[in-house]
Amino acid sequence: MTLHRKNLIDGEWLGEAGSRNINPSNTNDVVGEYASAGPDEAKQAIAAAKAAFPAWSRSGPLARHAVLKKTSDEIMARKDEIGRSLAREEGKTLAEGVGETIRAAQIFDFFAGETLRLSGEMVPSVRPGVGVEMTREGVGVVGIITPWNFPIAIPAWKIAPALAYGNTIVFKPAELVPESAWTIVDILHRAGLPKGVLNLVMGKGSVVGQAMLDSPDVNAISFTGSVGTGKRVAAASVEHMCKFQLEMGGKNPLVVLDDADLAVAIDCAVNGAYFSTGQRCTASSRLIVTDGIHDRFVDAVKERLDKLVIGDALDAKTQIGPVVDQTQLKQDEDYIAIGRQEGAELAFGGDRLERGTPGFYLQPALFVGSNNAMRISREEIFGPVANVIRVKDYDEALAVANDTPFGLTSGICTTSLKHATHFKRNSEAGMVMVNLPTAGVDFHVPFGGRKGSSYGPREQGRYAMEFYTTVKTAYTFAG
Ligand code: NAD
Repeated sequence: MTLHRKNLIDGEWLGEAGSRNINPSNTNDVVGEYASAGPDEAKQAIAAAKAAFPAWSRSGPLARHAVLKKTSDEIMARKDEIGRSLAREEGKTLAEGVGETIRAAQIFDFFAGETLRLSGEMVPSVRPGVGVEMTREGVGVVGIITPWNFPIAIPAWKIAPALAYGNTIVFKPAELVPESAWTIVDILHRAGLPKGVLNLVMGKGSVVGQAMLDSPDVNAISFTGSVGTGKRVAAASVEHMCKFQLEMGGKNPLVVLDDADLAVAIDCAVNGAYFSTGQRCTASSRLIVTDGIHDRFVDAVKERLDKLVIGDALDAKTQIGPVVDQTQLKQDEDYIAIGRQEGAELAFGGDRLERGTPGFYLQPALFVGSNNAMRISREEIFGPVANVIRVKDYDEALAVANDTPFGLTSGICTTSLKHATHFKRNSEAGMVMVNLPTAGVDFHVPFGGRKGSSYGPREQGRYAMEFYTTVKTAYTFAG
C-alpha cells in the first residue's frame, strides 16, 4: 500500500500527495507519495506559526513538558517500525535507522526535562531600590530546514528545543526523506500541540525553503545542509535581521600515530569513514597516518573493508547500505575519478555493485598516496570514500589535520597522553575524539564546528538555549 502524506498547516493536513519517495536499496519500491508545497502554503504556514506564538510562548512548562514527553514515549515505543521506515527511505542500515530513532526519542525526553529547568537571574541594580531580572524568552517563529542524512535525529534536535523554549515552527525537511519528517510531526500533533505551533511544509528547497528565507515574519532559521545553501540562508537572514544558525559540511581528519592500538585505529577509521555509507557530516574522510604504522594500517583497513557486507538496508546482515540517490552516487564516482586524475592510488573499492534489486550500491573506496592539497582532501565528498595521507610525525599530522576550510570534528588514535592532550587543545575543530570515531556523538552535549562547518550557537544539550531564546533584562523600582 502506497502512503499518501500531506502537509500540516495551522493544525490541518493539506495538499495533494504527488511527490514520490523512492527506496535507494530498491528503486522499484515507492515508499510513499508526499505533498509538495508552493510559496503560498509556505506563507500560510508562517502566518499560522506567527498567530500561534503569543499563546504557546506563554504556555506553562507543564504543557510543553507533556507534549515533548509523550512524543518521546511514542517514538521509543515505535522505534523498530520508525527505524525500519527510515532505513527504507534513506538507505542506512536497520541498526543505524533504529539507533537514530532511539536518539530522537532521547532528545525529546531531554528537552521535556529542560522545560522544567528554565531559570533566570536577579541582581541588584547599581541604582538603590531597583531590581534587575534577566529572563529568557522564545525567539518567535523558527524556520527549521534539514538535510536528508539524519532524517529523524536532526529534525528532533531542532524541533525539541524550539518547542521547549516556547517557539513556534515552520519545518521544511529534505525532499529525499519526507516519511521520517511526517512521522515525527504526526506524533507531535497527536501529542497535543495547539494548532499552528508546528507546521510541516514538505517541498522543494528552492520554493518552500526560499519562501521561508524571504519572509520577514520568520524570526530565526536553524539550517543544516550544504555550504552552498548555508550561504544563501546567511545572506537572506541578514536582509531581514533574522537570527540564524548553520551546520554544514566537514572534511574531518582522523590522525593515527605510530603508538596507536592498531585494532582501535582500524575500528575508528572504518566506522568513522564508511558507516552510514560515509554520508555523515562527521565522517573521517581524511586518514592522516604516521610513517611507522602506515603500511600495517592500510593493509588492515583493506582487509576489514573486504569483509564488509554491502547490500539492501533492510537486510539485517547488511553493514553498509546504498548511497542515497543517483545524484549523490554520481558525485561519489566523480570524486573517485578526480582522485585518480590527481595521482592518488585507489587501494580498495570504488566500483558500482550489483545486488538483487536495483539500487545505488557502491563499494567503499580507499585512496592511498594522497596529499592534503588534492581536491579529494579539501572538498566534502559525502560518500563512502576516504583517503590516507602519510606524514612523518605528530607535528606534521596536526598541521595537516588543521589545514582545511572545515572544522566540525577531528580524531586521534594514540596511546600517548601527551599527544592526546596536545591534540585536544590544538585541533581546530568543534568536537575532538580520542581513540573514538569522529562520527557518533552524545545527544545531551553541544554539537557544532568551527570555520566553514558551522555558524552561530551550538546545537543540542543545554547550549541549544542560546539559539532558541532571547534574553530580556527588566528593571523594577519598587518605591
Ligand atoms: P542541501 O543544502 O542540499 O539541503 C539542505 C536543506 O536545504 C534541504 O531541506 C533543502 O531542500 C534545503 N534547500 C535547498 N535549497 C534551498 C534554498 N534556496 N533555500 C532554502 N532551503 C533550501 O544539503 P543536503 O544535500 O540535504 O545535505 C547534505 C549536506 O548536509 C552535507 O554537506 C552535510 O555535510 C551537511 N550536514 C551537516 C551536518 C552538520 O551538523 N554539520 C549534519 C548533517 C548534514
